[in-house]
Amino acid sequence: MTTTHRPFVLDPLFRSIGVLSGVGPKYLKLYEKLLGGTKLLDLLFHKPVQMVIRHPVPDVAHANFGETVIVKVTIDKHTLPPRRSQPYHIRARDVTGFIDLVFFNAQGKWIEAQFPLNKEVTICGKIEDFRGQKQIIHPEPIEDASKDANEIIYPLTAGLTTKPLRKAIHAALDQAPALPEWLDDTQKALQKWPDWKTSITELHNPKTPKDLEPSTRARIRLAYDELLANQLTLAIVRMKQKKLNGRIFPVNGKLRQKLMKSLPWQLTPYQTEVLDEIDEDMASKNRMLRLLQGDVGSGKTIVAALAMMNAIDSGAQAAFMAPTEILARQHAETLRPHLESIGIHFVTLTGRDKGKIKQEILDDISSGKAKIVIGTHALFQEGVEFADLGLAVIDEQHRFGVHQRLQLSGKGKGVDILVMTATPIPRTLALTAYGDMDISRITGKPPGRKPVDTRLLPQDQVEDMIQRLGDQIKKGVRIYWVCPLVEESEILDLAAAEERYLILQQLFGDKVGLIHGRMKPKDKDDVMGKFSRGEISILVATTVIEVGVNVPEATVMIIEHAERFGLAQLHQLRGRVGRGGDQSYCFLVYAAPLGETAKERLKTLRSTEDGFIIAEKDLELRGSGEVLGTKQSGLENFRLADVAAHGDLLLSARQDAVLFLYKDPDLESPRGQALRTLLYLFERDQAISYLRSG
Ligand code: ADP
Ligand code: MG
Repeated sequence: MTTTHRPFVLDPLFRSIGVLSGVGPKYLKLYEKLLGGTKLLDLLFHKPVQMVIRHPVPDVAHANFGETVIVKVTIDKHTLPPRRSQPYHIRARDVTGFIDLVFFNAQGKWIEAQFPLNKEVTICGKIEDFRGQKQIIHPEPIEDASKDANEIIYPLTAGLTTKPLRKAIHAALDQAPALPEWLDDTQKALQKWPDWKTSITELHNPKTPKDLEPSTRARIRLAYDELLANQLTLAIVRMKQKKLNGRIFPVNGKLRQKLMKSLPWQLTPYQTEVLDEIDEDMASKNRMLRLLQGDVGSGKTIVAALAMMNAIDSGAQAAFMAPTEILARQHAETLRPHLESIGIHFVTLTGRDKGKIKQEILDDISSGKAKIVIGTHALFQEGVEFADLGLAVIDEQHRFGVHQRLQLSGKGKGVDILVMTATPIPRTLALTAYGDMDISRITGKPPGRKPVDTRLLPQDQVEDMIQRLGDQIKKGVRIYWVCPLVEESEILDLAAAEERYLILQQLFGDKVGLIHGRMKPKDKDDVMGKFSRGEISILVATTVIEVGVNVPEATVMIIEHAERFGLAQLHQLRGRVGRGGDQSYCFLVYAAPLGETAKERLKTLRSTEDGFIIAEKDLELRGSGEVLGTKQSGLENFRLADVAAHGDLLLSARQDAVLFLYKDPDLESPRGQALRTLLYLFERDQAISYLRSG
């Protein structure tokens, strides 16, 4: 029998952290904040990051400055602070010398109980040098020195300290079951990988700092598990999607040729190459599941339009979906002249369309009168019926996930899917997010683009720059002014932008506009419209604005606190300018002094405009977890694997998943059953439901 629910063996791992003794509702909240979940499993997946070696020393004389020591002392004297704001001091001694123990904001009662006068106590802490005198700030009283050997440090959150966290993790470990083995026997034996329970236990019990590196057997096995779950899910999605046969669309039909002829320029070789790949997919009986990667302005949209012609030439419809309202409308405006000139009826549909207007649009879609539908998520809501959807183009800017792609393809039988993304992703990351798709890349830009002149500018020169803007504005130059995220808070973020807006407004009056993510779509459109028509010269924006906006006349991009942005993000922002024929500029305003990584980032940005090179560098500099702001991006957020370090594992997990599914597509063999357990372990219940469907 096959498992269609979460196997019972996993139950202990899915219990709430609240079942542990000492974890009440308040702590549970903290755990949720720290771990992003409240299951015992979330605790187990919380990796230690550092290890402090504790040196047991025979006496105070052997306790060296800078070392974390364990030493037995006698409590000599308590000195209460004269004021609460001052520290509490204890003098500890042995025959070889003294150590001053210092406590801030300490509870007197607790201290007196833990460090009783004239008694011997074993303490642990780092020996600091206070004017030549040994001191420990917040020493830890130790009961059993052999048990508390080295201190293992975990990422924490305010209100949650190491000790209770470690205790909870070890309690969770005690409850962890042995799991059926889902790895291939031969591979496991060759690599000498431990089983799951041993690995997770070793993860939390490092003996030396080396055990914390991503290259230990336990770490590698755990990372492999996670990557395998990821790749297996994608392979299942792909298998199911491919099972729906695609349609055979003859390519290069009438409308396609007409559109091609109407273009005022030639396709670049890169565009031609990817269009050939798309044509081949569409013409074959296999479904197209293709990702088109290419920098902002590399000319993806027109490639997509040409692909849509294949569907329309066969009497089918095409949908073009954008992540936001602004972008949907912008795509519609970009495509309008092309489509109208060859007489193609298209409609737009976004969440804003209501009532009678919406009904008319829906009727056009269901009758087949609309050949192309451009819109937002609204396109795959219920009530939207296509007469005959043949191709779905999804411009996703990282916001749609696998599930949403599946939803859309449910709108028609065997719909061909073309996903476009303007954020170049390193190859390894692309596999984790889009491993269910074939990948095409446009690596160059249309001819005639001048490189954006990119300059670094220290914050204290901003005033001077503002003075010079006046002349530029008179000349009609259009400027984006981006204010950064402040500690990931949209509200503070907004405050910074509003402040900048007010300052600029005082100087340049109504030539200045403000746009941010909390504005109503209509107000955003209004501001964008004004900027686009040149009624506004400076557009102050938070990063939450849609980065896809296209105002070819804009030639200056100013980014404040550029050091706080990731490389990919800076690259995206810079891509807003340099879209017309005029020389464009990008000013990276930074607060000195710059850290090493920030320096490297800004230098990279100055040295190249190739998004793929920048993406690889970003991965190298930041590690996979942070690339592209993974949280918002819809990219995988791995907990055990580190794609920067485990890239080769990813490739082997991919191969493993694909080969295995080929042999056992329903995951029914013993290993197949164990792999189901793996999928449930990583909460890929969805993958199992895909298995069952169709
Ligand atoms: P993307 O969708 O990749 O951001 P677009 O398709 O919007 O890029 O193209 C950016 C600009 O380049 C558009 O104004 C488009 O008309 C123009 N363009 C596209 N392809 C070419 C080409 N082969 N030669 C010249 N200009 C082009
Ligand atoms: Mg575009």
